[in-house]
Amino acid sequence: MAKEVFMCRPCAEKLKAAGKCIMHSPVKDKGDCYNCKSRRFGYTCEIIKRSRKNEKNDT
Ligand SMILES: [Zn+2]
Repeated sequence: MAKEVFMCRPCAEKLKAAGKCIMHSPVKDKGDCYNCKSRRFGYTCEIIKRSRKNEKNDT
């Protein structure tokens, strides 16, 4: 199952480039970035998980 999170644009683009997420629609309101914890505008993203045992390593 994919996990949907909110990420700021730099993080979303970085993870997308790394093949770790799929960017969805832009979010109109500010939110706390899943990756860097900054409060800014960003995107809804779908995290791509490769294996279950890495779940605890989410940052
Ligand atoms: Zn971020």
